Amino acid sequence: MLVSAKEMLEKAKAGHYAVAQININNLEWTKAVLTTAQELNSPVILGVSEGAGKYMTGYKTVVGMVNGMLEELNITVPVALHLDHGSYEGCLKCIEAGFSSIMFDGSHYPIEENVAKTTELVKICAEKGMSLEAEVGSIGGEEDGVIGRGECADPQECKQIADLGVTMLAAGIGNIHGKYPDNWEGLSFETLDAVQKLTGSMPLVLHGGTGIPADMIKKSIELGVSKINVNTECQWSFAAATREYIEAGKDKEGKGFDPRKLLAPGTAAIKATVKDKMELFGSVGKA
Ligand SMILES: [Zn+2]
Repeated sequence: MLVSAKEMLEKAKAGHYAVAQININNLEWTKAVLTTAQELNSPVILGVSEGAGKYMTGYKTVVGMVNGMLEELNITVPVALHLDHGSYEGCLKCIEAGFSSIMFDGSHYPIEENVAKTTELVKICAEKGMSLEAEVGSIGGEEDGVIGRGECADPQECKQIADLGVTMLAAGIGNIHGKYPDNWEGLSFETLDAVQKLTGSMPLVLHGGTGIPADMIKKSIELGVSKINVNTECQWSFAAATREYIEAGKDKEGKGFDPRKLLAPGTAAIKATVKDKMELFGSVGKA
């Protein structure tokens, strides 16, 4: 059964490790993440962006697929199904479809409007027993032409949003989505430290986990990060393994064109990436 991310993240914050949010795109992705979490006895959060939700034909399909897998694969570790960077409307749809967690990305609104919309969602999530992630200080990405360093959140605004009763808080600390540029200045630990001092026991979320050096990941966990989002890295490993298979001509050998064979190396590669992340974040054995 899907669970809210609240308990797993509070345990992670208290135990000084982080739970991975791995974004899913299809059946192979979901199966790879769930089986790896089970093998490693680790909690996990399945992230679904609005685009990925649409690709999988809608949130109800995602909920049906994930719930089916939890049962058919005998998954007993805590699993949350979480909307990633949701719009207000997207959040309402996921609540109705049966997600156990949502992120409302109100970072592009003026702070007053972010507060107003977050307040409404806090109320609904509390009634439904769901977890809610809020974002302060927008987290950029390559596509936004961000160079050097991503935006840093205002710690006072972080406290203002945290005090509304959200479950976890994503604060921009110089992190960005996708590939980090060569001239990236690294994470702002001063910002993270200031945010953690003002928000206390609130689990903090680090977006853009792909390509952040291991020592910076460890330091951010020490400073209160309890959830780290990984997306691009699984896409890279899936693509590389699939390319290798095709370039080796294996799809032309016997029944190598069978999707169950053709997609197997990519699926195994996602599993290996997820395992690396869970080991780095310290969540192995914490289910
Ligand atoms: Zn993000």
